[in-house]
Amino acid sequence: MKIEDIQRIAVVGCGTMGNGIAQVIALHKYDVRLIDIKQEFLDRALATVSNSLDRMIRKDKITKDDKKATLERIHTTTDMNKAKDVQLVIEAVTENLEIKLDIFRKLAVICPPEVIFASNTSSLPITQLATATKRPEQFVGMHFMNPVPMMKLVELIRGIATSDITFNLVFELSKKLGKIPVEVNDFPGFIANRILMPMINEAIYAHFEGVGTIEAIDEVMKLGMAHPMGPFTLADFIGLDVCLAILEVLHEGLGDPKYRPCPLLKKMVQAGYLGRKTGRGFYVYDK
Ligand code: NAD
Repeated sequence: MKIEDIQRIAVVGCGTMGNGIAQVIALHKYDVRLIDIKQEFLDRALATVSNSLDRMIRKDKITKDDKKATLERIHTTTDMNKAKDVQLVIEAVTENLEIKLDIFRKLAVICPPEVIFASNTSSLPITQLATATKRPEQFVGMHFMNPVPMMKLVELIRGIATSDITFNLVFELSKKLGKIPVEVNDFPGFIANRILMPMINEAIYAHFEGVGTIEAIDEVMKLGMAHPMGPFTLADFIGLDVCLAILEVLHEGLGDPKYRPCPLLKKMVQAGYLGRKTGRGFYVYDK
């Protein structure tokens, strides 16, 4: 397959990441099949995309006509079979190995053999996900950053079997989508989360052990390290369940106790305090 052959892309999962990925792809004139399990989730995703495009209009980045055309290119469906005539599938469902493997097994039957598969997983092994597709050489990790329309970086992860042809094609495509791809090998957490999550975990431990308040730690990292957001603000933004899931992958995958998730993080997730998305995490948010 060549880059010009890619015209239709399926995005499976329309949550925080999926709707942002769909927006960026449609904005760059590709047709999108946005797939999720419930139509109400898809309607909410389209509303999020519409609001995000409105912000771009207000900043004079796009016109009203661009918005209309972008929304028209996003076709929502709860039927996975609608992925049968795309050239690339980007999976962005819940960070759970079994759910993702199950989806890739189904897609491998639905999609013709030349179709390329990518996963937006934050931490799960690309090599293992690829085994479910029966075409591991056509599988790559495509780790976008949140919020997708704003963040330039995409980590492109090579599984053990990923072919150069597939890798180079997805590299080119990422550039066409206005992103800056960075090549990464398949190890737990890749680069971004291998470094970010231990920092967030350490901030939670520091608070847990009474070194400083949440506000104090955020302030130190913002003013002292020039981070645009403190670690607690960022963790709430990412989702505390997502942070915990990634730390567990690092802990298990690398076998080093330094990645042990802080008990306070576990307790917050057990309580359903997942951050911005539930209105409460380390901070409380107005609905
Ligand atoms: P989310 O919970 O916001 O969205 C997940 C979506 O997947 C939901 O809409 C859910 O209905 C859907 N889904 C679940 N099972 C499905 C199925 N069988 N078929 C179709 N859809 C299904 O999660 P998210 O934050 O968007 O994360 C998605 C992926 O992106 C995860 O792998 C996560 O690790 C990764 N990621 C997240 C972030 C972040 O900051 N949140 C950043 C980079 C990567």
